[in-house]
Amino acid sequence: VSFETVLSDEHRLFSKAVHHFLDREVAPHAEAADRTGDLPPGLVHRLGELGYLGLRYPEDVGGSGAGFVAVCLLMEEFYRVSAGMAAVAEIQCGLGTMPLFLAGTEEQKERYLRPALAGELLGAFALTEPDAGSDATSIATAARRAGSGWVLQGSKTYITNGSRADFLIVAARTGEAGAGGVSLFVVDRRLGEVPARRIETLGLRASDTSEVFLDDVQLPADALLGEEGSGFAILMRTLNEGRIMVGAESVGLATAALEAAVGYAKTRQQFGSPIGAFQSIRFRLADMATQVAASRLLVYRAAQNVDEGTITREEASMAKLFASEVASHVTKDALYIHGGFGYMMEAPLQRYFRDSVANEIVEGTSDMQRESIARSLGL
Ligand SMILES: Cc1cc2nc3c(=O)[nH]c(=O)nc-3n(C[C@H](O)[C@H](O)[C@H](O)COP(=O)(O)OP(=O)(O)OC[C@H]3O[C@@H](n4cnc5c(N)ncnc54)[C@H](O)[C@@H]3O)c2cc1C
Repeated sequence: VSFETVLSDEHRLFSKAVHHFLDREVAPHAEAADRTGDLPPGLVHRLGELGYLGLRYPEDVGGSGAGFVAVCLLMEEFYRVSAGMAAVAEIQCGLGTMPLFLAGTEEQKERYLRPALAGELLGAFALTEPDAGSDATSIATAARRAGSGWVLQGSKTYITNGSRADFLIVAARTGEAGAGGVSLFVVDRRLGEVPARRIETLGLRASDTSEVFLDDVQLPADALLGEEGSGFAILMRTLNEGRIMVGAESVGLATAALEAAVGYAKTRQQFGSPIGAFQSIRFRLADMATQVAASRLLVYRAAQNVDEGTITREEASMAKLFASEVASHVTKDALYIHGGFGYMMEAPLQRYFRDSVANEIVEGTSDMQRESIARSLGL
């Protein structure tokens, strides 16, 4: 099955345009952004200007209506060039905006969603807490009513864009233990200070991964997003698409590493021949190429199903599980094929490897995806 047959002509043209943009405007900053942790100035605004942040959303909320396959193509290309910078955009295209699209009032959409899609405001999605990760239904951050508004008390951790964001979609407990007692709030940093601490990470270093402190944060009544107690249902739908995006990102990282390894195997000479002539290297590369092709098909089939409205939870989990584990193996094997050079910071292989490991953890670890797939088998 050729992957090319999965894409329409429009998708192909879009992917080429994204590739061209990233090559020209993002790739030159990739190494420095990884080293310093800083984004090139104006990056988010530029992505908004090009319409790349609103691909998933219809025009009436400020999107471009291109669809979810286009989001995945963007993420694949972006992760090939700079996973750290792409992670910032990933939140903006998905987790940080989807709850607003699914559950926001007209006013919330105008105040947060539209400017976020235009790249004028940066969003974050804050679910994980120091004591609640895989078991997200056990979050302890609480929102209590105070006058006509709310007061938030708790903390969130490992939040992408957590220090930089203008607004955060925060999950907090408003009712009984478990999923039914969780509600979502939009915490607007323009209304009051929300301190955060950026945490050093192994990879995705241009992305900001932060702990966020919610100490007596006063919120107006209209900060509640969706119905009280409906937070978990909104989060689950949001995360389903997020996992497919993680799959597409993993395809991008694996492809970058595979292409580098094939190039190196053709040029690096040992024992009087290119290392690509040795069967162990040839077969390793053949396996890597096959795994990347399989990932791509699984991810884009799931993406198409999102656009067609038929996506299931297990399809999203399978795409994320398979593609993220493939990316970790392929980036490590590509590093190995580069020998000592692969281990050097001046080669990009170490960055692909460091960046890919995150995708086995974010938006539900590999084993949590296995859990959900096993449940779909009736186990
Ligand atoms: C780079 C990065 C960015 C992130 N960005 C965000 C963000 O923007 N917003 C956000 O809310 N969160 C974010 N996270 C958090 C991420 O979603 C969590 O780290 C993830 O869900 C795992 O939770 P945990 O770290 O608490 O691990 P734990 O849940 O403590 O898991 C530890 C280990 O135990 C295993 N485990 C746990 N439960 C089970 C079980 N029932 N069966 C078998 N194994 C189990 C896990 O698979 C894992 O191997 C980010 C994380 C990273 C690394």
